[in-house]
Amino acid sequence: MNTPLLDVKSVSKTFKSHSFGRPASFKAVDEVSFSVNRGESVALLGASGSGKSTLIRLLCGLEKIDAGNGSISVDTHSFYQGTSFAPDIRETRKSIGVVFQQFNLVGQLDVITNVLIGCLANKSAIDVLLRRFTEAERVAALECLDKVGLGPQAYQRASTLSGGQQQRVAVARALLRGAELLLADEPVASLDPTSAKKVMDVLFGLTQDLGMTLIVSLHQISIAQTYCHRALGMRKGRLIYDGLASELSVQRLQALYGADAQEIVTDTFNSPQSSTQQFSTLIGA
Ligand code: ADP
Ligand code: MG
Repeated sequence: MNTPLLDVKSVSKTFKSHSFGRPASFKAVDEVSFSVNRGESVALLGASGSGKSTLIRLLCGLEKIDAGNGSISVDTHSFYQGTSFAPDIRETRKSIGVVFQQFNLVGQLDVITNVLIGCLANKSAIDVLLRRFTEAERVAALECLDKVGLGPQAYQRASTLSGGQQQRVAVARALLRGAELLLADEPVASLDPTSAKKVMDVLFGLTQDLGMTLIVSLHQISIAQTYCHRALGMRKGRLIYDGLASELSVQRLQALYGADAQEIVTDTFNSPQSSTQQFSTLIGA
């Protein structure tokens, strides 16, 4: 049987805060379950505040899930042992790469050093500061840069790269860590349509070519439908859709999301007017 690469069961995340001096709590992720097979490209769709970033932080082990019966595993390695992280969580984390919106590159450092920072987990801070990397690590980093088409830029300062090239560096860094699963959190938010397309082309093309599995959070249905076969829809922390991206028609989105559908349908990607107009017609605006 084909075991999924990522398996998420009944995962919740509650944030505690104080409201007018009283303790309050807010469930940002609410009993979410799904699994993803190797090689899939999945869009995580939802309006802002629906819990996408929180879920991504849970999936890469940056945040801990609420104690209870929830579980996350990657390649059958469970993140948790009881309510604590499992002893091999550092190893498990290496199989997951995360591309944040800002790519987290150090502009003053050259590209190869930015990739080598990806193997930070095995290094002391001093080694990294003094850039004490072994020859084998440098060769491996160059190989990863070659794979993403950035071999010639290895010794260029990261700040001189274009947005699309910076994203390739972020992917090369994940590759060096041995990541199989790539999580990208709103990689195209706040980009103009042309840059958004370039960034998605790079992200999607690379992960396909390299046989990686991709989960990309988005709040635009058009982008999800252009690149991803499958969509996971979140609303108010809950998973309200798990199916084909192509089946999310404007009508379906409105039924699922109500007023929040506007944010998901408003299309800044392919044809800025069309789906907004469709939506306005639909709701009689
Ligand atoms: P999205 O990425 O879909 O915009 P987020 O996961 O960032 O959504 O946020 C979901 C909800 O959780 C929001 O209401 C947000 O304010 C809340 N939230 C996120 N992180 C924290 C935190 N560290 N403390 C308190 N509330 C948080
Ligand atoms: Mg977010």
